[in-house]
Amino acid sequence: MFFDQKITDMATQAEVKVQERFREIDHVIDHNQWKVIRAFQNHKVSDFHFANSTGYAYNDRGRETLDLVYAEVFGAEAALVRPHFASGTHTIGTALFGVLRPGDELLYITGKPYDTLHKVIGKEGDGTGSLRDFGIAYNEVPLLGGVAPDWEAIRAAIKPNTKVIGIQRSRGYDWRPSFTVAEIGEMVRYVKSIKEDVVVFVDNCYGEFTEKMEPTEDGVDLMAGSLIKNPGGGIAATGGYIAGRQDLVTLAANRLTAPGIGGEVGAMLGETRNIFQGFFLAPHAVGQAIKGAVFAAALFEGLGFTTSPAWNAPRTDLIQAIRFTSSEHLISFVQGIQKASAVDAHVVPEAWDMPGYKHPVIMAAGTFIQGGSLELSADAPIREPYIAYMQGGLTYSHSKFGALNALQNLVNLNLL
Ligand SMILES: *Cc1c(COP(=O)(O)O)cnc(C)c1O
Repeated sequence: MFFDQKITDMATQAEVKVQERFREIDHVIDHNQWKVIRAFQNHKVSDFHFANSTGYAYNDRGRETLDLVYAEVFGAEAALVRPHFASGTHTIGTALFGVLRPGDELLYITGKPYDTLHKVIGKEGDGTGSLRDFGIAYNEVPLLGGVAPDWEAIRAAIKPNTKVIGIQRSRGYDWRPSFTVAEIGEMVRYVKSIKEDVVVFVDNCYGEFTEKMEPTEDGVDLMAGSLIKNPGGGIAATGGYIAGRQDLVTLAANRLTAPGIGGEVGAMLGETRNIFQGFFLAPHAVGQAIKGAVFAAALFEGLGFTTSPAWNAPRTDLIQAIRFTSSEHLISFVQGIQKASAVDAHVVPEAWDMPGYKHPVIMAAGTFIQGGSLELSADAPIREPYIAYMQGGLTYSHSKFGALNALQNLVNLNLL
């Protein structure tokens, strides 16, 4: 037996409750899986596309076809999919530096962006090569009540030099709702009705394949994401993608490599097949992770904890937040997730003072890809209101195993 009988019974109850949601998630998986297969077929993906390339890698048909497949799936004119992007932050930074020029302003309309982007935006004269260091202005409109776009404040904030509007789809590690593709579409139409030529950029991290449509299918000009999250399918070893309008993707490519070179060079280092295969698997893996999140929400809600999103709420990203009542709960929850891993289950995570964070943070990441967060993982800053964030799971069964291990850990430590 893996768990106490009481826990196994609670798992059964939670699973019965969520069956209707699981059926809806299956429909999204089918739609996205078929969309991806159709794009592979339309571009005649073939085994020779998976060949390695070296040096400049001119005319790497695999790389070129990969861009076309991503563009088709995301309903975009163009895409740039590369293992040369070191992280999500690097990818987003490349898109922003590609499009913005000195004197322009970047305006985020979904409140403070994800933590790692603060240094990309930077401070005037910080000497780091941040956007502000290059004379690019920045402003943000906080969410109204911490949950919704503040339409009037957005209207007031858009100025003649506002070049890029930034939208973050996922809640990241904030206790706020994530924005669905439909809600993002509404934001696009609103800001374009105020300033027609503004470029709308979406940080799409954690969002890909959670819905049937992506933001670029609903008016967004440019978006970016990480291959060690959703679209890498747990297989891509590293990388990122940028998708959107052709002229903007070209500018981003010029920033990644150099003007005049753009996306036409770049050896794929043997990663092409992994990136293709990961993209093929991604709709399914994302669906598995979401089922795991829905299950965990139902399970912990049943125990009286507040969850966000609730198990029956619509989803547009992978993140499941669970609010506990003490730091002991947080620590044992995260340690329980780690105990469920196939990799590094014997390691016990501890809270530590991570650079860039004000409070100690504890993280569970028993992953095949370092920091890969389509894989089952959990994070918690040790501070009130004691929120643990969990995400991922390449298989539903693993996610479920994680939630139950976390629960068993809480029971073993007499925390329930
Ligand atoms: C993960 C993430 C990023 C940054 O990606 P890294 O790979 O951690 O650099 C940016 N925005 C959001 C919403 C994310 O979830």
